[in-house]
Order: sequence, then C-alpha cells, then structure tokens
Amino acid sequence: MLTAGEKFYRARLAERVDLARDLWRFRIDPGERFNFTPGQFATLGLEVEGRRIERPYSIASSPSERELEFFLELVPHGKLTPLLHKLQPGDEMLMRKIPKGRFTLQTSDGRHNHLLVSTVTGVAPFLSYGRALAEDWKHDRFDGSHRLYLLHGASHPWEFGYKDELTGLAGDLPWLAYVPTLSRPREHADWQGETGRADDVLEKYLDVWDLDRTNTRAYLCGHPDMITNSKTILKRRGFVERADIKEETYWIAPRPALASNSGEKPSDSDSRTAAFW
Ligand SMILES: Cc1cc2nc3c(=O)[nH]c(=O)nc-3n(C[C@H](O)[C@H](O)[C@H](O)COP(=O)(O)OP(=O)(O)OC[C@H]3O[C@@H](n4cnc5c(N)ncnc54)[C@H](O)[C@@H]3O)c2cc1C
Repeated sequence: MLTAGEKFYRARLAERVDLARDLWRFRIDPGERFNFTPGQFATLGLEVEGRRIERPYSIASSPSERELEFFLELVPHGKLTPLLHKLQPGDEMLMRKIPKGRFTLQTSDGRHNHLLVSTVTGVAPFLSYGRALAEDWKHDRFDGSHRLYLLHGASHPWEFGYKDELTGLAGDLPWLAYVPTLSRPREHADWQGETGRADDVLEKYLDVWDLDRTNTRAYLCGHPDMITNSKTILKRRGFVERADIKEETYWIAPRPALASNSGEKPSDSDSRTAAFW
C-alpha cells in the first residue's frame, strides 16, 4: 500500500494564461520526471478541509517538455475547477504520479490517417500528439508516414486556445492538417474560417481529406454530444465503433428526465474519479 506521499507529486503552478473568464491554460512543474504517452491524462487534485478532490485532465504538452501543460474550462458549480481556477503561479496542487488512459495514437494497424475531432479543451490530447510528432520529425525519428487531420469546434474564436500554434504547425508540417470551425459565426463577423459545429462539418472533411475506414482511425474528444453525433456520422460511413473509433468523453451529459422520474439522486461527483483508478 502506497502512502499519500508516494502516490502524489506536489506540483507547482509555473504559468497560467487566461483566454476567457472561464477558460485557461496552465503549466505545472511536477518536481520530478513524469513519463507519459501523448493522449494520456494526469489526475490533478486539491485537498480541502481534509478531503481530496481529484479529476482527470488530458495532458496537452509533449513528453519531452519538463513542465506539463493543461487546457481547462471552468465549470461554475463544479467541485474542483472553481478551486483550480483560483491558483496562481507558485501555488501547489496534487498530481498522481501515474498517468492513465488509452487515448493514444494507434500506429500499428496499417492505417496511416488519424482523424482527430475535438471541442474546445478536447484538443489537448491532440496537441500532445502533434507536439510530440513535430519533435520526432525535427530529429528524424518520424518519417511523416502517419498523417493527422484535426477538426476543432468552438463557439467563440478565443476558445480554440492553440489556434496560432496549430495553424503554424500545419503550415510547416506536410503530415498535419488543422481546421478550427466556429459554431456561432454570426457573433464574430471577422471570422474567416470554417463554420458549423465539428460534427456538422465532419462529413464534408471525410470527403475533402479522402478518409474512410480502410485508411483511417477516428479519435473523438470533448463534449458528449459531439462524440455521440460524430459516431453516428462515422458509422453511417462504415466506421465500426471501437474497431475504428476511439473516444474520450469529458463529462456525462445529465439526464434530468431519468433522475426526476426515478427519484434517483445525482451521484457524488467526487467518486467519479474512482472510475479512472
Ligand atoms: C479522461 C478525461 C480527461 C479530461 N480532460 C479534461 C481537460 O483536458 N480539460 C477540462 O477542462 N476537462 C477535462 N475533463 C473533465 C474534468 O475531469 C472534470 O470533469 C471537469 O473539469 C469538471 O470538474 P469539476 O469538479 O469542476 O465539476 P464536477 O463537480 O465534476 O461536475 C459538475 C457537473 O458539471 C458537469 N460537467 C463537467 N464538466 C463539464 C463541462 N466542461 N461542461 C459542462 N458540464 C460539465 C458534470 O457532468 C457534473 O454534472 C476530462 C475528463 C476525462 C474523463
């Protein structure tokens, strides 16, 4: 049985960048080497009045970076994000020493195209794939034979978070395509890019990029509705759930009718973390 000290790093917040009132990126220094595979998540937490609150967060940085980067949305009535949102550089948080998750790039099944579909913070694992492969490409460890096609949906331009970095990488790297798509273009008259939700434009980009289940694996990350809708579209195009589609759902959409009809109480969200451990 490991003690708390053996299970957790006391990670220090090194930098934070606020993109909106409810959206921010930050980097933490775990204090020791933290090995992970791009696409995995870390479990971050805080101790409040003797009780630990923990949640999983996809790692946005590449394994070669000393600091770990995250992209978070504030859930106003959530248990952990309002507390994490108060932290400033120098403040500490808990981080489990073991990374988790299987939402990693699968490169060994003969398919060389990877269709990555995300909403807002769901881009984090895909950024990690991109940064890691860009590093390998630069040092001749990756020959460009796997191609990433990234669709990123958001309501407002600032929610893309990494648009400049990803647009720059896509301009430089022949194996990366990046399309940010805005669902509320009427509120942003100067938006020049793609419009519609990620799942609205998914079918169009399957054709534009010539992707099908024989040459492509799909990865869906973020909003539960985007994942459900995208799976429906992909299945209509012959993709098979699990065999061809990987998914990382960030939260479970509430089902009010079920809860009120059954008298079922909402579950204690702290215990959700147990599902990942
Ligand atoms: C594998 C994995 C990776 C994740 N990576 C990220 C990440 O990189 N960035 C990130 O911001 N989140 C990520 N999440 C979600 C994160 O773990 C928390 O669920 C989220 O931050 C809310 O925590 P909370 O304690 O503030 O809210 P909670 O107290 O857990 O939730 C309160 C209520 O809000 C709902 N809810 C949770 N998140 C949202 C949301 N974003 N929008 C609307 N309703 C929501 C919950 O279902 C619940 O009903 C990830 C989740 C998983 C499973």
